[in-house]
Amino acid sequence: MKNNDAYEAILEMYEGKPFTTSKVADSLIKVLRFQFTPEEAELAVKVGLRGGKLDQIHERSGIEKNKLKKMLNTMADKGTMWISPGTEDPTYKTIGVAGPGLLETGGWGNVRFPHSIQLLKALYAFQLDFAKNILGEMPFSVAQVWTTPSALPDDADPNENVAEKIKEAGYWGVSTCSCRLPHWIADPGNHCEHLLETCLFMSDIARWGVEHGICREITYDEVLEILRKCNEDGLVHTYDPNDFICNCCSDCCVLQIGDREPGAKVLEPSAFVAQVDDSTCNSCNTCADRCPFGAIEINAHALVDINKCLGCGVCFPSCTTKSIRFVRRPKTEELSSKAVV
Ligand code: SF4
Ligand code: SF4
Repeated sequence: MKNNDAYEAILEMYEGKPFTTSKVADSLIKVLRFQFTPEEAELAVKVGLRGGKLDQIHERSGIEKNKLKKMLNTMADKGTMWISPGTEDPTYKTIGVAGPGLLETGGWGNVRFPHSIQLLKALYAFQLDFAKNILGEMPFSVAQVWTTPSALPDDADPNENVAEKIKEAGYWGVSTCSCRLPHWIADPGNHCEHLLETCLFMSDIARWGVEHGICREITYDEVLEILRKCNEDGLVHTYDPNDFICNCCSDCCVLQIGDREPGAKVLEPSAFVAQVDDSTCNSCNTCADRCPFGAIEINAHALVDINKCLGCGVCFPSCTTKSIRFVRRPKTEELSSKAVV
Protein backbone atom coordinates (compact mmCIF):
# COMPACT_ATOMS: atom_id res chain seq x y z
CA MET A 1 0.00 0.00 0.00
CA LYS A 2 1.38 3.43 -0.97
CA ASN A 3 1.40 6.07 1.78
CA ASN A 4 -1.34 8.08 0.10
CA ASP A 5 -3.67 5.12 -0.08
CA ALA A 6 -4.00 4.87 3.70
CA TYR A 7 -5.23 8.47 3.93
CA GLU A 8 -7.60 7.98 0.99
CA ALA A 9 -8.91 4.88 2.76
CA ILE A 10 -9.65 6.93 5.90
CA LEU A 11 -11.59 9.41 3.77
CA GLU A 12 -13.61 6.53 2.31
CA MET A 13 -14.34 5.27 5.81
CA TYR A 14 -15.85 8.69 6.74
CA GLU A 15 -17.83 8.99 3.50
CA GLY A 16 -21.59 8.70 3.92
CA LYS A 17 -21.50 9.39 7.66
CA PRO A 18 -23.82 12.13 9.00
CA PHE A 19 -21.18 14.76 8.31
CA THR A 20 -20.30 13.66 4.79
CA THR A 21 -16.79 14.61 3.81
CA SER A 22 -16.62 14.73 0.00
CA LYS A 23 -16.95 18.54 -0.08
CA VAL A 24 -14.13 19.01 2.41
CA ALA A 25 -11.87 16.16 1.29
CA ASP A 26 -8.91 18.37 0.30
CA SER A 27 -8.68 20.22 3.61
CA LEU A 28 -9.47 17.10 5.65
CA ILE A 29 -6.70 15.07 4.07
CA LYS A 30 -4.19 17.75 5.13
CA VAL A 31 -5.38 17.29 8.73
CA LEU A 32 -5.13 13.52 8.42
CA ARG A 33 -1.49 13.73 7.33
CA PHE A 34 -0.61 15.42 10.63
CA GLN A 35 -2.97 13.38 12.80
CA PHE A 36 -1.87 9.92 11.59
CA THR A 37 1.46 8.46 10.58
CA PRO A 38 1.04 6.27 7.47
CA GLU A 39 1.18 3.16 9.71
CA GLU A 40 -1.45 4.63 12.08
CA ALA A 41 -3.66 5.53 9.10
CA GLU A 42 -3.66 1.92 7.95
CA LEU A 43 -4.47 0.74 11.45
CA ALA A 44 -7.25 3.34 11.83
CA VAL A 45 -9.04 1.85 8.80
CA LYS A 46 -8.66 -1.67 10.18
CA VAL A 47 -10.08 -0.61 13.56
CA GLY A 48 -12.89 1.28 11.80
CA LEU A 49 -15.57 3.53 13.23
CA ARG A 50 -17.39 0.55 14.75
CA GLY A 51 -14.19 -0.68 16.36
CA GLY A 52 -13.60 -3.83 18.36
CA LYS A 53 -11.65 -5.49 21.15
CA LEU A 54 -7.87 -5.93 21.10
CA ASP A 55 -8.11 -9.60 20.00
CA GLN A 56 -10.35 -8.69 17.07
CA ILE A 57 -8.10 -5.84 15.95
CA HIS A 58 -5.06 -8.10 16.30
CA GLU A 59 -6.73 -10.59 13.95
CA ARG A 60 -7.73 -7.88 11.47
CA SER A 61 -4.35 -6.14 11.42
CA GLY A 62 -1.88 -8.96 12.03
CA ILE A 63 0.07 -6.63 14.34
CA GLU A 64 1.64 -8.29 17.39
CA LYS A 65 -0.48 -7.56 20.48
CA ASN A 66 2.00 -5.58 22.59
CA LYS A 67 2.98 -3.39 19.65
CA LEU A 68 -0.69 -3.02 18.70
CA LYS A 69 -1.71 -1.92 22.21
CA LYS A 70 1.09 0.65 22.27
CA MET A 71 0.08 2.02 18.86
CA LEU A 72 -3.58 2.28 19.86
CA ASN A 73 -2.63 4.16 23.05
CA THR A 74 -0.36 6.55 21.12
CA MET A 75 -3.27 7.23 18.75
CA ALA A 76 -5.60 7.86 21.70
CA ASP A 77 -3.06 10.37 23.09
CA LYS A 78 -3.20 12.14 19.71
CA GLY A 79 -7.01 12.10 19.83
CA THR A 80 -7.54 9.75 16.90
CA MET A 81 -8.55 6.60 18.80
CA TRP A 82 -11.34 6.05 21.29
CA ILE A 83 -10.46 3.60 24.08
CA SER A 84 -13.35 2.96 26.46
CA PRO A 85 -11.98 4.10 29.84
CA GLY A 86 -11.77 2.26 33.16
CA THR A 87 -11.85 -1.32 31.86
CA GLU A 88 -9.28 -4.12 31.50
CA ASP A 89 -10.58 -5.12 28.09
CA PRO A 90 -11.59 -1.87 26.39
CA THR A 91 -13.30 -1.31 23.07
CA TYR A 92 -11.24 0.60 20.51
CA LYS A 93 -12.80 2.80 17.81
CA THR A 94 -11.31 5.17 15.29
CA ILE A 95 -12.49 8.74 15.92
CA GLY A 96 -14.90 10.14 13.33
CA VAL A 97 -14.84 13.54 11.67
CA ALA A 98 -17.04 15.58 13.99
CA GLY A 99 -19.04 15.61 17.16
CA PRO A 100 -16.52 14.91 18.83
CA GLY A 101 -13.98 13.98 16.18
CA LEU A 102 -11.06 15.17 14.15
CA LEU A 103 -12.70 18.57 13.92
CA GLU A 104 -12.11 18.91 17.66
CA THR A 105 -9.51 16.50 18.94
CA GLY A 106 -6.53 18.22 17.27
CA GLY A 107 -7.38 21.40 19.19
CA TRP A 108 -7.79 19.74 22.57
CA GLY A 109 -4.94 19.55 25.07
CA ASN A 110 -3.04 22.57 23.73
CA VAL A 111 0.29 22.25 21.88
CA ARG A 112 1.58 18.83 23.01
CA PHE A 113 3.40 17.24 20.06
CA PRO A 114 6.09 18.24 17.54
CA HIS A 115 3.40 18.17 14.83
CA SER A 116 0.86 20.25 16.84
CA ILE A 117 1.51 23.64 15.23
CA GLN A 118 1.24 22.30 11.68
CA LEU A 119 -1.81 20.28 12.66
CA LEU A 120 -3.54 23.31 14.20
CA LYS A 121 -2.96 25.36 11.05
CA ALA A 122 -4.38 22.58 8.87
CA LEU A 123 -7.26 22.16 11.31
CA TYR A 124 -8.22 25.83 11.11
CA ALA A 125 -8.41 25.66 7.29
CA PHE A 126 -10.49 22.48 7.54
CA GLN A 127 -12.83 23.99 10.14
CA LEU A 128 -13.57 27.01 7.91
CA ASP A 129 -14.21 24.67 4.98
CA PHE A 130 -16.41 22.44 7.15
CA ALA A 131 -18.40 25.36 8.59
CA LYS A 132 -19.17 26.81 5.17
CA ASN A 133 -19.63 23.70 3.06
CA ILE A 134 -21.09 21.19 5.50
CA LEU A 135 -22.64 22.95 8.49
CA GLY A 136 -23.92 25.90 6.46
CA GLU A 137 -25.85 23.54 4.21
CA MET A 138 -27.23 21.15 6.84
CA PRO A 139 -31.04 21.04 6.65
CA PHE A 140 -31.33 20.79 10.45
CA SER A 141 -29.74 22.27 13.58
CA VAL A 142 -26.73 20.44 14.97
CA ALA A 143 -26.23 22.15 18.33
CA GLN A 144 -28.52 23.47 21.05
CA VAL A 145 -27.93 26.86 22.68
CA TRP A 146 -28.48 26.87 26.45
CA THR A 147 -29.47 29.92 28.46
CA THR A 148 -26.72 30.64 30.96
CA PRO A 149 -27.86 29.22 34.35
CA SER A 150 -27.83 32.54 36.24
CA ALA A 151 -30.29 34.09 33.74
CA LEU A 152 -32.91 31.33 33.87
CA PRO A 153 -36.39 32.33 35.07
CA ASP A 154 -37.95 30.71 38.13
CA ASP A 155 -40.25 28.51 36.05
CA ALA A 156 -37.34 26.86 34.18
CA ASP A 157 -37.40 23.07 34.41
CA PRO A 158 -34.19 21.34 35.64
CA ASN A 159 -34.01 19.80 32.16
CA GLU A 160 -33.69 23.31 30.75
CA ASN A 161 -30.73 24.10 32.98
CA VAL A 162 -27.42 22.98 31.46
CA ALA A 163 -25.78 23.02 34.92
CA GLU A 164 -28.34 20.48 36.16
CA LYS A 165 -27.99 18.28 33.08
CA ILE A 166 -24.25 17.92 33.45
CA LYS A 167 -24.44 17.36 37.22
CA GLU A 168 -25.64 13.79 36.62
CA ALA A 169 -22.41 12.99 34.76
CA GLY A 170 -20.40 12.63 37.99
CA TYR A 171 -17.04 13.22 36.25
CA TRP A 172 -15.88 16.33 34.39
CA GLY A 173 -12.88 17.67 32.50
CA VAL A 174 -11.85 20.85 30.72
CA SER A 175 -9.60 21.46 27.74
CA THR A 176 -8.52 24.15 25.32
CA CYS A 177 -11.17 25.34 22.87
CA SER A 178 -10.86 23.32 19.66
CA CYS A 179 -11.89 26.35 17.56
CA ARG A 180 -10.05 29.20 19.29
CA LEU A 181 -6.68 27.43 19.60
CA PRO A 182 -6.43 26.58 15.85
CA HIS A 183 -7.48 30.15 14.93
CA TRP A 184 -4.95 31.68 17.34
CA ILE A 185 -2.14 29.51 15.94
CA ALA A 186 -3.10 29.86 12.27
CA ASP A 187 -3.82 33.58 12.25
CA PRO A 188 -1.78 35.23 15.03
CA GLY A 189 -2.74 38.82 15.85
CA ASN A 190 -6.02 38.55 13.95
CA HIS A 191 -8.32 36.75 16.33
CA CYS A 192 -10.43 37.21 19.46
CA GLU A 193 -9.06 37.36 22.99
CA HIS A 194 -11.69 35.25 24.74
CA LEU A 195 -10.90 32.58 27.32
CA LEU A 196 -9.13 29.52 25.94
CA GLU A 197 -9.60 26.66 28.43
CA THR A 198 -13.38 26.36 27.99
CA CYS A 199 -14.24 23.01 26.34
CA LEU A 200 -16.09 21.00 29.00
CA PHE A 201 -16.18 17.21 28.96
CA MET A 202 -18.45 14.88 30.90
CA SER A 203 -18.64 11.18 31.84
CA ASP A 204 -16.64 8.70 29.74
CA ILE A 205 -15.38 11.27 27.25
CA ALA A 206 -13.90 13.19 30.21
CA ARG A 207 -12.33 9.98 31.58
CA TRP A 208 -10.89 9.16 28.13
CA GLY A 209 -9.61 12.73 27.82
CA VAL A 210 -7.93 12.72 31.24
CA GLU A 211 -6.35 9.27 30.66
CA HIS A 212 -4.79 10.52 27.41
CA GLY A 213 -3.69 14.04 28.39
CA ILE A 214 -6.41 15.67 26.28
CA CYS A 215 -8.20 17.41 29.15
CA ARG A 216 -7.74 17.86 32.92
CA GLU A 217 -10.12 16.63 35.60
CA ILE A 218 -12.18 19.31 37.38
CA THR A 219 -14.88 19.32 40.07
CA TYR A 220 -18.54 20.18 39.51
CA ASP A 221 -18.01 23.52 41.29
CA GLU A 222 -15.22 24.30 38.84
CA VAL A 223 -17.59 23.46 35.95
CA LEU A 224 -20.09 26.00 37.32
CA GLU A 225 -17.36 28.62 37.69
CA ILE A 226 -16.19 28.06 34.09
CA LEU A 227 -19.79 28.45 32.84
CA ARG A 228 -20.10 31.71 34.81
CA LYS A 229 -16.80 33.08 33.51
CA CYS A 230 -17.65 32.09 29.94
CA ASN A 231 -20.98 33.93 30.15
CA GLU A 232 -19.25 37.01 31.56
CA ASP A 233 -16.71 36.77 28.74
CA GLY A 234 -19.51 36.79 26.13
CA LEU A 235 -19.31 33.09 25.18
CA VAL A 236 -22.40 31.06 24.20
CA HIS A 237 -23.00 27.65 25.84
CA THR A 238 -23.88 24.86 23.42
CA TYR A 239 -24.45 21.39 24.85
CA ASP A 240 -23.70 18.35 22.72
CA PRO A 241 -25.42 15.02 23.45
CA ASN A 242 -21.97 13.41 23.08
CA ASP A 243 -21.28 14.78 26.56
CA PHE A 244 -19.44 17.99 26.08
CA ILE A 245 -20.18 21.71 26.24
CA CYS A 246 -18.71 24.26 23.86
CA ASN A 247 -18.44 27.87 24.94
CA CYS A 248 -18.50 29.63 21.60
CA CYS A 249 -17.34 33.00 20.33
CA SER A 250 -18.42 34.61 17.05
CA ASP A 251 -14.86 34.94 15.83
CA CYS A 252 -13.58 31.35 15.91
CA CYS A 253 -16.47 28.97 16.62
CA VAL A 254 -17.18 26.54 13.78
CA LEU A 255 -20.87 26.46 14.76
CA GLN A 256 -21.31 30.24 14.66
CA ILE A 257 -19.33 30.60 11.41
CA GLY A 258 -21.57 27.95 9.82
CA ASP A 259 -24.68 29.58 11.29
CA ARG A 260 -23.89 32.84 9.47
CA GLU A 261 -24.03 31.19 6.03
CA PRO A 262 -27.11 32.33 4.05
CA GLY A 263 -30.13 30.18 4.96
CA ALA A 264 -28.19 28.16 7.56
CA LYS A 265 -29.75 26.99 10.79
CA VAL A 266 -26.88 25.38 12.66
CA LEU A 267 -27.87 26.52 16.16
CA GLU A 268 -31.12 25.54 17.85
CA PRO A 269 -32.40 28.37 20.11
CA SER A 270 -32.85 27.76 23.83
CA ALA A 271 -36.31 27.59 25.37
CA PHE A 272 -36.08 31.24 26.48
CA VAL A 273 -35.70 34.72 25.02
CA ALA A 274 -34.40 37.96 26.46
CA GLN A 275 -36.93 40.64 27.40
CA VAL A 276 -36.11 44.25 28.34
CA ASP A 277 -37.92 46.33 30.96
CA ASP A 278 -38.23 49.66 29.12
CA SER A 279 -39.08 51.49 32.33
CA THR A 280 -35.55 50.95 33.69
CA CYS A 281 -33.43 50.58 30.52
CA ASN A 282 -31.20 53.63 30.02
CA SER A 283 -30.28 52.79 26.39
CA CYS A 284 -26.60 52.40 27.25
CA ASN A 285 -26.07 50.02 24.29
CA THR A 286 -23.96 47.51 26.27
CA CYS A 287 -26.30 44.58 25.63
CA ALA A 288 -26.50 45.35 21.90
CA ASP A 289 -22.70 45.49 21.68
CA ARG A 290 -22.41 42.13 23.44
CA CYS A 291 -25.13 40.18 21.61
CA PRO A 292 -23.36 37.71 19.27
CA PHE A 293 -26.42 37.41 17.02
CA GLY A 294 -27.33 41.06 16.43
CA ALA A 295 -30.68 40.55 18.14
CA ILE A 296 -30.80 43.88 20.05
CA GLU A 297 -31.47 47.33 18.65
CA ILE A 298 -31.48 50.51 20.68
CA ASN A 299 -34.17 53.10 20.04
CA ALA A 300 -35.86 54.81 22.99
CA HIS A 301 -34.77 51.65 24.85
CA ALA A 302 -33.33 48.24 23.96
CA LEU A 303 -35.51 46.09 21.70
CA VAL A 304 -34.98 42.33 21.32
CA ASP A 305 -35.83 40.67 18.02
CA ILE A 306 -37.20 37.27 19.03
CA ASN A 307 -36.46 35.85 15.61
CA LYS A 308 -32.76 36.55 16.08
CA CYS A 309 -32.46 35.98 19.85
CA LEU A 310 -31.14 32.47 20.56
CA GLY A 311 -31.63 32.88 24.31
CA CYS A 312 -27.94 32.53 25.20
CA GLY A 313 -27.88 35.06 28.08
CA VAL A 314 -24.67 36.80 26.96
CA CYS A 315 -26.51 40.14 27.30
CA PHE A 316 -27.64 39.32 30.85
CA PRO A 317 -24.68 39.97 33.19
CA SER A 318 -23.64 43.32 31.73
CA CYS A 319 -26.87 45.25 32.26
CA THR A 320 -26.13 47.54 35.19
CA THR A 321 -29.82 48.51 35.56
CA LYS A 322 -30.93 44.82 35.74
CA SER A 323 -33.40 45.51 32.93
CA ILE A 324 -32.95 42.17 31.14
CA ARG A 325 -34.83 39.06 32.16
CA PHE A 326 -35.62 35.82 30.40
CA VAL A 327 -39.07 34.54 29.51
CA ARG A 328 -40.27 31.37 27.82
CA ARG A 329 -39.90 31.55 24.05
CA PRO A 330 -43.27 32.03 22.33
CA LYS A 331 -44.46 29.15 20.17
CA THR A 332 -43.66 29.56 16.45
CA GLU A 333 -47.27 30.52 15.57
CA GLU A 334 -47.15 33.40 18.09
CA LEU A 335 -43.87 34.82 16.79
CA SER A 336 -45.15 37.14 14.01
CA SER A 337 -47.18 39.21 16.47
CA LYS A 338 -44.37 39.29 19.04
CA ALA A 339 -41.26 39.82 16.92
CA VAL A 340 -39.87 42.45 19.24
CA VAL A 341 -40.01 42.56 23.04
S1 SF4 B 1 -27.57 46.94 28.93
FE1 SF4 B 1 -29.47 47.22 30.09
S2 SF4 B 1 -29.66 49.43 30.33
FE2 SF4 B 1 -28.15 49.11 28.71
S3 SF4 B 1 -29.37 49.17 26.80
FE3 SF4 B 1 -29.26 47.03 27.42
S4 SF4 B 1 -31.09 46.68 28.64
FE4 SF4 B 1 -30.82 48.89 28.48
S1 SF4 C 1 -30.44 39.13 22.95
FE1 SF4 C 1 -28.55 38.31 22.07
S2 SF4 C 1 -27.18 38.05 23.84
FE2 SF4 C 1 -29.25 38.29 24.66
S3 SF4 C 1 -30.01 36.21 24.86
FE3 SF4 C 1 -30.68 36.94 22.86
S4 SF4 C 1 -29.09 36.22 21.44
FE4 SF4 C 1 -28.22 36.08 23.50
